[in-house]
Amino acid sequence: MKMNTKTISLPRLNNLHPSLESTALKLMEEAGELGATIGKFRGLSGEKVEMDKHQVAEAISAELLDVAQTAVTMMFVLEEQFQIDVDQVLTRHVEKLVQKGYLKLD
Ligand SMILES: [Mg+2]
Repeated sequence: MKMNTKTISLPRLNNLHPSLESTALKLMEEAGELGATIGKFRGLSGEKVEMDKHQVAEAISAELLDVAQTAVTMMFVLEEQFQIDVDQVLTRHVEKLVQKGYLKLD
Protein backbone atom coordinates (compact mmCIF):
# COMPACT_ATOMS: atom_id res chain seq x y z
CA MET A 1 0.00 0.00 0.00
CA LYS A 2 1.27 3.40 -0.94
CA MET A 3 0.53 6.63 0.86
CA ASN A 4 1.87 10.10 0.36
CA THR A 5 3.13 10.91 3.86
CA LYS A 6 4.93 13.68 5.69
CA THR A 7 7.37 12.22 8.20
CA ILE A 8 8.62 14.47 10.95
CA SER A 9 10.72 13.43 13.92
CA LEU A 10 10.08 15.27 17.12
CA PRO A 11 12.07 14.63 20.28
CA ARG A 12 10.97 13.02 23.52
CA LEU A 13 11.48 15.93 25.90
CA ASN A 14 13.78 14.67 28.64
CA ASN A 15 13.70 17.67 30.90
CA LEU A 16 9.97 17.58 31.62
CA HIS A 17 7.70 15.30 33.63
CA PRO A 18 4.48 15.46 31.65
CA SER A 19 1.23 13.81 32.64
CA LEU A 20 -1.82 13.05 30.55
CA GLU A 21 -3.58 16.07 32.05
CA SER A 22 -0.70 18.50 31.64
CA THR A 23 -0.09 17.50 28.02
CA ALA A 24 -3.81 17.64 27.20
CA LEU A 25 -4.00 21.14 28.67
CA LYS A 26 -0.82 22.19 26.84
CA LEU A 27 -2.24 20.84 23.58
CA MET A 28 -5.30 23.05 23.94
CA GLU A 29 -3.11 26.01 24.86
CA GLU A 30 -0.93 25.48 21.79
CA ALA A 31 -3.99 25.00 19.58
CA GLY A 32 -5.23 28.34 20.90
CA GLU A 33 -1.93 30.00 20.02
CA LEU A 34 -2.17 28.51 16.52
CA GLY A 35 -5.69 29.88 16.15
CA ALA A 36 -4.60 33.31 17.39
CA THR A 37 -1.75 33.40 14.88
CA ILE A 38 -4.08 32.42 12.05
CA GLY A 39 -6.45 35.15 13.24
CA LYS A 40 -3.58 37.60 12.92
CA PHE A 41 -3.05 36.37 9.36
CA ARG A 42 -6.65 37.15 8.55
CA GLY A 43 -6.53 40.46 10.42
CA LEU A 44 -9.24 39.28 12.82
CA SER A 45 -7.70 40.86 15.88
CA GLY A 46 -8.13 44.35 14.45
CA GLU A 47 -4.50 45.15 15.22
CA LYS A 48 -2.29 46.32 12.39
CA VAL A 49 -0.17 43.38 11.26
CA GLU A 50 3.41 44.40 10.61
CA MET A 51 4.41 41.06 9.10
CA ASP A 52 3.99 40.21 5.43
CA LYS A 53 2.02 37.11 4.46
CA HIS A 54 5.06 34.87 4.27
CA GLN A 55 6.25 35.91 7.72
CA VAL A 56 2.81 35.18 9.12
CA ALA A 57 2.79 31.79 7.38
CA GLU A 58 6.16 31.07 9.03
CA ALA A 59 4.74 32.07 12.41
CA ILE A 60 1.74 29.78 11.79
CA SER A 61 4.14 26.93 10.91
CA ALA A 62 6.08 27.43 14.14
CA GLU A 63 2.85 27.34 16.17
CA LEU A 64 1.74 24.23 14.28
CA LEU A 65 4.98 22.50 15.31
CA ASP A 66 4.27 23.44 18.93
CA VAL A 67 0.95 21.58 18.54
CA ALA A 68 2.71 18.60 16.93
CA GLN A 69 5.42 18.53 19.61
CA THR A 70 2.81 18.51 22.34
CA ALA A 71 0.89 15.74 20.56
CA VAL A 72 4.09 13.68 20.33
CA THR A 73 4.85 14.33 23.99
CA MET A 74 1.36 13.08 24.81
CA MET A 75 2.01 9.93 22.74
CA PHE A 76 5.14 9.24 24.83
CA VAL A 77 3.03 9.69 27.98
CA LEU A 78 0.46 7.21 26.66
CA GLU A 79 3.19 4.70 25.82
CA GLU A 80 5.19 5.06 29.00
CA GLN A 81 2.45 5.58 31.56
CA PHE A 82 -0.48 3.74 29.98
CA GLN A 83 1.22 0.99 27.92
CA ILE A 84 -0.36 2.16 24.67
CA ASP A 85 1.22 0.86 21.47
CA VAL A 86 1.12 3.98 19.30
CA ASP A 87 2.14 2.02 16.17
CA GLN A 88 -0.91 -0.19 16.65
CA VAL A 89 -3.13 2.87 17.14
CA LEU A 90 -1.59 4.35 14.00
CA THR A 91 -2.56 1.28 11.98
CA ARG A 92 -6.17 1.60 13.17
CA HIS A 93 -6.06 5.33 12.44
CA VAL A 94 -5.11 4.72 8.80
CA GLU A 95 -7.80 2.02 8.52
CA LYS A 96 -10.33 4.56 9.81
CA LEU A 97 -9.23 7.15 7.23
CA VAL A 98 -9.69 4.58 4.46
CA GLN A 99 -13.06 3.51 5.82
CA LYS A 100 -14.28 7.13 5.98
CA GLY A 101 -13.16 7.66 2.42
CA TYR A 102 -10.55 10.31 3.25
CA LEU A 103 -7.72 8.12 2.02
CA LYS A 104 -7.50 5.88 -1.02
CA LEU A 105 -4.71 3.34 -0.96
CA ASP A 106 -3.31 2.11 -4.25
MG1 LIG B 1 2.91 28.00 20.71
